[in-house]
Amino acid sequence: MSIAKEKAYLSVDINSDLSQQLEFYKKAYKKDKSLTITEKNYMIDDVRKYYNKLKVSQRLSEPRECDYCKRLRYDVPKCELCVRDYLKNNFGKWTSGNTEIDKLIQYCQFEISVSSYVIEWIEYEKFKNVQYKTKGGFGKIFTATWIDGRYAAWNAKKRLLTRFGPHDVILKRLNDSANINDDWYQEAKTHLTFDVIGNYLVRCYGLTRDPETFDYMLVLFPYDCDLRQYLFENSSSLSLNQKYYIIRRLCYSLHEIHKRDVVHKDLHSGNILFRKRYNEWKIKKKDDRDLLFEIALGGLRPEIPENIPFGCVKLIQQCWDAKPENRPDASIIFQEIGRLHNQRRSKIKIIIAKVKKFYGKILSKKKQKPRCRRKRVE
Ligand SMILES: [Zn+2]
Repeated sequence: MSIAKEKAYLSVDINSDLSQQLEFYKKAYKKDKSLTITEKNYMIDDVRKYYNKLKVSQRLSEPRECDYCKRLRYDVPKCELCVRDYLKNNFGKWTSGNTEIDKLIQYCQFEISVSSYVIEWIEYEKFKNVQYKTKGGFGKIFTATWIDGRYAAWNAKKRLLTRFGPHDVILKRLNDSANINDDWYQEAKTHLTFDVIGNYLVRCYGLTRDPETFDYMLVLFPYDCDLRQYLFENSSSLSLNQKYYIIRRLCYSLHEIHKRDVVHKDLHSGNILFRKRYNEWKIKKKDDRDLLFEIALGGLRPEIPENIPFGCVKLIQQCWDAKPENRPDASIIFQEIGRLHNQRRSKIKIIIAKVKKFYGKILSKKKQKPRCRRKRVE
């Protein structure tokens, strides 16, 4: 199924509207001969849910009146306005101990557009099995189990949000955040508020605080590995399409982030996370162009090997232009990778057609032979 997802994703047009993109995927999955009917239905349902969420978060769907509060809501079947009221009523039941952080989380909760994307303050005691995983430039990363788990569903009758139950999370401890400065606050704000929009960055559930160092920790969705580790383990076996797929997914997210006048500023393979189950790549908050070299070339700015397609070489060289204004942006890289993929696919189709024609001739000659023999026997 992941190959079918890659194939469709490599041809979708980033500039078409969300409904057109959804129709494109549905058609691509219906046509894909490698999928069973059950797989096709599953993938169509999955992509429909994804696009519905995007439409809700971007206010592109038609609002409907909520049966309970009678206000116009976008989220279906939940009502994001009822969910906001529920969260607002709980403002007095939690505190991070810092007024600015409290205000930030309250702002996120009050702005939610997709009711399943709630940012919250989580007491550290709500985590168990906290284990050190690795160290990054910003601080240490831990794995943990969130005992109650994220908010999962809105119970309309009881008027409350219910939780998912225990699940794994990543805790990213932010160095020197015990005394909040402006830079840290702005970064946390971008990370948390972007998740209100959702879908482009690594999912963040909220904040907690390390009881020993008093540093704040981001509570994140657990991904399997980062791009650096993925390339280290798979670079020699990755097909060109798989590389194109990764580049396109990341360019799409970057394009969406840039559309909102936010620049990542620190994008590298250690900040890009992979979830194998969904064949999904997400950016961990914080120029996008160096990435192209890392994925296409499997490492950092080496000489360009001969087996890299000419179009891709040209793109890499454009990204290396000394003047930043001459370098292509994320959306151009996205389009160009799609064009290179389609060009390659057309060439492969021509070769397959030639091979079929050639063997077709041989087979038709073979079919004629037995008749000749039978004639001889008779
Ligand atoms: Zn409502």
